[in-house]
Amino acid sequence: MYTKFQQHLQSELASIEEAGLYKKERVITSPQGADIQLNTGADVLNFCANNYLGLSNNPKLVEAAKEALDSHGYGMSSVRFICGTSDIHLALEKKIADYFGTEDTILYAACFDANGGVFEPLLTADDAIISDALNHASIIDGVRLCKAHRYRYKNADMADLESQLKLAQAQRFRLIVTDGVFSMDGNVAPMNKILELAERYDAMVMIDESHSAGVVGPTGRGVTELFDCKGKAEIITGTLGKAFGGAIGGFTTGKKEIIDMLRQRSRPYLFSNSIPPLVAAAGVKTFELLEESNELNARLKENTDYFVSEMTGAGFDIKPTQSAICAVMLYDAKLSQDYATKLSEEGIYVTGFYFPVVPRGEARIRVQLSAAHTREQLEKAVAAFVKVKSEIELK
Ligand SMILES: *Cc1c(COP(=O)(O)O)cnc(C)c1O
Repeated sequence: MYTKFQQHLQSELASIEEAGLYKKERVITSPQGADIQLNTGADVLNFCANNYLGLSNNPKLVEAAKEALDSHGYGMSSVRFICGTSDIHLALEKKIADYFGTEDTILYAACFDANGGVFEPLLTADDAIISDALNHASIIDGVRLCKAHRYRYKNADMADLESQLKLAQAQRFRLIVTDGVFSMDGNVAPMNKILELAERYDAMVMIDESHSAGVVGPTGRGVTELFDCKGKAEIITGTLGKAFGGAIGGFTTGKKEIIDMLRQRSRPYLFSNSIPPLVAAAGVKTFELLEESNELNARLKENTDYFVSEMTGAGFDIKPTQSAICAVMLYDAKLSQDYATKLSEEGIYVTGFYFPVVPRGEARIRVQLSAAHTREQLEKAVAAFVKVKSEIELK
């Protein structure tokens, strides 16, 4: 049997490669940060991590993790409800709820699991989920696991959301679900308008704050802070794998009864291991640091503003961003790959995206800013973009 299946896989893999879609991984040998080393010996500036607050290798988090290793050991060897809940897990859940101004929090191994396990325990075939077309893959998969009616609206398009809400009046309960920040353009979901429509059409709201938490809003509390509607959305999901230290872990935070029901019925919570205490302890430390000071978020915004204004000044076409994601538009797929290759030769680590990851004819380089970037590193990145542009234009 395997010989036939092997041939099938080999030909599928070859067609992925021919289409130029084969993903190759670059190997980092240093800690994650603004300045990283690769196994090729190259030393590069990193502009494609989700390390928004520069916490991935923060000494205070490393220290908190080491202390928890000593006090709580390595692993829990259990799901939460059997014997996998430590005092640190509870402390982290409380910290997350305080941060977002919500009632309670439930931890998962990843936000992929949080989204995978949020719909099915709450909604049935009598209900409706109204989902933004550009929502993350984990939301799409989570919705698939649930029997609720599915409605989809065009990205951040409020007229279309309204039409879908009208159709969804046929169902019992309605849940609108959206990413806070969309990862390809860096635009935010218009939460004020979404909540208004939710009120008018009797719907609940869920926001995935994975790319927005720690980033947007006056103190980085995400889109509910940006639109001054903290505590209004019934459900928020998010990750510890991006701004909040970047290790592993996800969460759902929101209304008390919703979280309570998820603890009873959410399958990725009930049937998957709890996160290691050292990760939970570094998570608690992360939220302590963010409670004490807004310095990292302020620096992230300063860096983003600086990069966008320098790049715009240098004649680049930047999608209007409301986050730390900056799409440098090149439109042509091959051009985006040429740029990415040449930039890496200049020591700038970025990724070029093209169809089908972004719409056809909208190829781009996605630059992700971090509080860890120094002004000098940002200047180097802009200079490299300018140099690559002139080389490509000369050809
Ligand atoms: C990254 C991301 C996830 C997945 O988070 P993990 O914790 O890495 O599983 C989910 N949703 C969105 C919107 C994301 O950007």
